[in-house]
Amino acid sequence: MQPRVKILFAYLLILSLGLAISVTIFITGRQVTDVTTTLIEEKLPRLQVINELYLAIIERERLLYEYYATTDSETLLPQLDQIDQRFSAYFRQIEIAFPDSEAIESIRYGDRMVRRLTQQLDNNFQQAQVDWDLAREQLAELSDTGRKILPSLETLVAQVNQEAFQSGEATRNSTELSTRLVISFSIFVIIIAAFVGYYVNRYITETISRRRLAMFAERSPNPILSFNWQGQLTYSNPACLQLMTQQGNHSQRIESLLPLTFQDRLLKLQKSNQDYAQWINEVGNYTLEFSLSLLRDLDTCHLYIEDISARTQAQAQLKYEAYHDILTELPNRRYFNENLNKLVANNSQQQAFALILIHIDRFDLVTSSEGFKTGDRLMQLVAQHLQQFCRGYCSLDLGNKLYRLDSNKFSLLLDQLPEHDFAENLAQELSQSLGHSICVEGKEFHLTLSIGISHYPNQGIEGETLLTNADAALTRIKSDGGDGILCYSQDIHAKEQAWIAIERDLRTAIEKQQLQLFYQPKIQAYQHKISGVEALIRWQKDDGKMISPFEFIPVAEQTGLIITIGDWVIAQAFNQLKQWQQLFLTKEVELSFDFSIAVNLSAKQFQHPGFIKNIKLRLSEAEIDPQFIELEITESLLIGDIENSIRIMHQLKEIGFKLSIDDFGTGYSSLSYLKQFPIDKLKIDRAFVMDIESNNDDKVLAKSIVDLAHNLNLSLVAEGVENKQQLEIIEALGAEEIQGFYFSKPKPAAEIESEYFTKAD
Ligand code: C2E
Ligand code: MG
Ligand code: MG
Repeated sequence: MQPRVKILFAYLLILSLGLAISVTIFITGRQVTDVTTTLIEEKLPRLQVINELYLAIIERERLLYEYYATTDSETLLPQLDQIDQRFSAYFRQIEIAFPDSEAIESIRYGDRMVRRLTQQLDNNFQQAQVDWDLAREQLAELSDTGRKILPSLETLVAQVNQEAFQSGEATRNSTELSTRLVISFSIFVIIIAAFVGYYVNRYITETISRRRLAMFAERSPNPILSFNWQGQLTYSNPACLQLMTQQGNHSQRIESLLPLTFQDRLLKLQKSNQDYAQWINEVGNYTLEFSLSLLRDLDTCHLYIEDISARTQAQAQLKYEAYHDILTELPNRRYFNENLNKLVANNSQQQAFALILIHIDRFDLVTSSEGFKTGDRLMQLVAQHLQQFCRGYCSLDLGNKLYRLDSNKFSLLLDQLPEHDFAENLAQELSQSLGHSICVEGKEFHLTLSIGISHYPNQGIEGETLLTNADAALTRIKSDGGDGILCYSQDIHAKEQAWIAIERDLRTAIEKQQLQLFYQPKIQAYQHKISGVEALIRWQKDDGKMISPFEFIPVAEQTGLIITIGDWVIAQAFNQLKQWQQLFLTKEVELSFDFSIAVNLSAKQFQHPGFIKNIKLRLSEAEIDPQFIELEITESLLIGDIENSIRIMHQLKEIGFKLSIDDFGTGYSSLSYLKQFPIDKLKIDRAFVMDIESNNDDKVLAKSIVDLAHNLNLSLVAEGVENKQQLEIIEALGAEEIQGFYFSKPKPAAEIESEYFTKAD
């Protein structure tokens, strides 16, 4: 019920109750007045009359006694007569007042008797001879009869009293009723007043808040419009005009703010069972959101317009940033994942497509040596290059198929393969396209790519599998030195499985004493005397199968097992040197006095925080001089945090170790850094020696490496010399030491002893 109706209802109730109470009180008042009037005008005079009758009886009795005593009839008879008249007059009044009362009859009778007896007494006194005995009797009877009237008078008095009491009682009852009614009415009025107060207060509050709400629309910065059910505009707030002005719409017709489809939409919504519709319209440069709301009970429609241009732009920007790489502006990994999953999900006919993963080889080196700024710029140029290549490739415009997945990894999602080997050919051409150097801030960078490819559906029917497989192919290329293309195959998978098996077995290899160190002699050039040995690890499993370090060292590095294995190698090699040095003392062996053992270090082992402490411990345990230990560090090991690597190398030098760079020439050692390395030797990689006798390029490269070493005051060791021709070329190039199968394969310590540590003749 509406508060206003409630208040009206309460008001009417109070009014009618008040009216009823007033009538009741009026009636009661009238009753009281009547009773009082009767009392004053009837009852009291009656009592007065009765009293007068009473007095008349007493007076008459006194006069009769006096008459008896004096017999003075002249004086007393008129007085008695007077009394009789008075009595009669009063009695008449009494008769009228109590017409039906029995007491009236007895009074009348008594009075008649008194008058007769008085007459008889008077007759007696008028006799000449008064009969005094009779007179006494008459007087006594008179007195008796007169007094017999008195109880009747008292009955009348009692009757008057009774009537007065009864009407008094009735008056009291009706007065009490009025009082009760007035009190109840007052309580009721108080309660109603409280209710009315509450509702009035609520009504006022609601009115105020409604007024405020009305202001809300007025002051809302967003346009609000109201329409009747027929779609005619009934209200628009000032923000409508503001928006129109902003849009350059000066028509002053608020309706021009509405989209052309508005009336249709309104009609459609009215016919539906919905009460709300929302849509977005582009108006010029503005994006407006329209919210139409139906108030069916009020036959009204409200339209709210919000300018969401800034929000949509911000959302678009956020979306762009969420899906793009900021540096290269290429779509990012998230975009890639979504598109790859979509491609897989929507490919009900299993149409073939390919996923190409592109990795820029050794890009970390650019960042660590040239800084992030150069690295970033180079990355931008590479990304541009890749995109341009993709755009132009076979006029297919593959520019939007390129993604940057992480720091130096890109992906190309080829959703269509026009021909067999399309992905491989594209990868090949892409790789070649990067053949020229890229120039950043005056510095030239030669970059190569490692590319892994997987095909749908042959190498995976799920996005995740395709990506993992392409990555497996890429990892293989990277571990083979990079700069290559590989399609995922079962072979890679098998190798991965083999890695898992190796890891499992390698964990127990030390305990089972399956690991052993072999030693390959290093021979002085021209003199061909042994100058030292390189310790090379061997793993012979229980079944006698030998596993190449090329196979298990990378696994050990990946799993962290290299820390334990490397430590074991160091301890073994140090102890071996100790044993041999003792042997040299006891036997007079003809040996170079600075016979050394070279120990290979892995990247993880080298950069492990406890490495220096541990190698010092091994040194003190074996009690050997570190100058007879040569630590071989591969070039790739120095990639990454070069500054830190240099710091560790200095610490090793301080302890007294000799340092050499292994497999030199295969990596990308920056010459500027090479100068900073506190090293003693360079070991030229076997790859340069392998075909040196037939390939002049290799010879030229080998020569330049030898010269580089000598220019940096480093001695040079040539690895992998297998024949005499190679030996002669290498010696002619100026290498100080030679290592290779030509002189000896790696052998167990005992064989080295028996072959080389023979007593001088
Ligand atoms: P590396 O340090 O460059 O070792 C030289 C490799 O070339 C050895 O292979 C050796 O047997 C081989 N080699 C030497 N002369 C010739 C030759 O004339 N012809 C041919 N074809 N090969 C020759 P190995 O022992 O299989 O070791 C392979 C690689 O494994 C090593 O290359 C080294 O990087 C790593 N490695 C070996 N032992 C250890 C170790 O104890 N710790 C670490 N971290 N790595 C090790
Ligand atoms: Mg080595
Ligand atoms: Mg080597």
